[in-house]
Parts: sequence; C-alpha cells; structure tokens
Amino acid sequence: MKAELACTDITENLCQHCAYCCLKTLLPVNALTSQTYEYLVMVMESRGFSVYAYDEDDGTLLFDMGACPYLRRKGEMYGCGVHGTAARPKKCKKFNCAAWAAVGEEDNTVFTDYALGIYNWLNGGESSGE
Ligand code: SF4
Ligand code: SF4
Repeated sequence: MKAELACTDITENLCQHCAYCCLKTLLPVNALTSQTYEYLVMVMESRGFSVYAYDEDDGTLLFDMGACPYLRRKGEMYGCGVHGTAARPKKCKKFNCAAWAAVGEEDNTVFTDYALGIYNWLNGGESSGE
C-alpha cells in the first residue's frame, strides 16, 4: 500500500475513478472573528452550501460548494462533460493534486487524502467504500 502519492501517480485512470477535485469545489474565506464566522455560515448554509473545514488558528473557513455541474458519472467512473472543449477551465487541464499537495500548506492534501485511497484500491488494496 502506497502511503503518499507522487505527481506521476495521478493518471487519467486514477482521476476517472476518483474525481474528488470535481466533486468538491472548495471556497476558502477568512472568518477572523466569531461574528464573521457565524454570519458567513448562516448566509452560505441558507444557500445550500456546507462548511467543509475550519482552521481556528488562522480563521480559514472552507465551504463545500458541491460538485462541478459539468461532472458526469459513467457507472463506476467519472468524466468531464466539457473535456476537449474550450469550456473546460485551463486549471482543470493542468491540475495535479499531488503536485498541489507538495507545495504550500497542509490543507493542500485535501484531495490527495481521498485520491490515495482510490489509488490503493485500484492497485489491489482494500475497498474504497465507493
Ligand atoms: S483529486 Fe487528484 S486523483 Fe482525484 S481526480 Fe483530482 S487530480 Fe485526479
Ligand atoms: S470542468 Fe470538468 S474537469 Fe473541471 S471541475 Fe468540472 S468536471 Fe472537473
């Protein structure tokens, strides 16, 4: 079982089974006071978005904005409904969650933590529970 993903582990096959970065659109905002936190949570939850994580130390509040509307499920696998078209954002074409996790802060492992389970499952490990 692999303990950490490398950039080269992020293949098309893994992404088609994982899709976590398409399922979770995360919006980071600063909630530096408890009043700001309560206000933001009230406004966002009233619009159907939920809190994904909150870091009390630096006030970063991550909202889960839900799945990308272009995401398509094909049985056990996922696909991008605008793959190969101009509508697909450039960031999506280039995104590699392991490369992102390798730079910056520990929050950057939010996608690789999930993708690692899928990787190990695809390579003969325990069920992903999907
Ligand atoms: S989280 Fe990583 S492995 Fe999963 S779809 Fe996104 S880039 Fe691919
Ligand atoms: S546009 Fe496609 S690749 Fe980008 S987040 Fe949406 S489904 Fe994923």
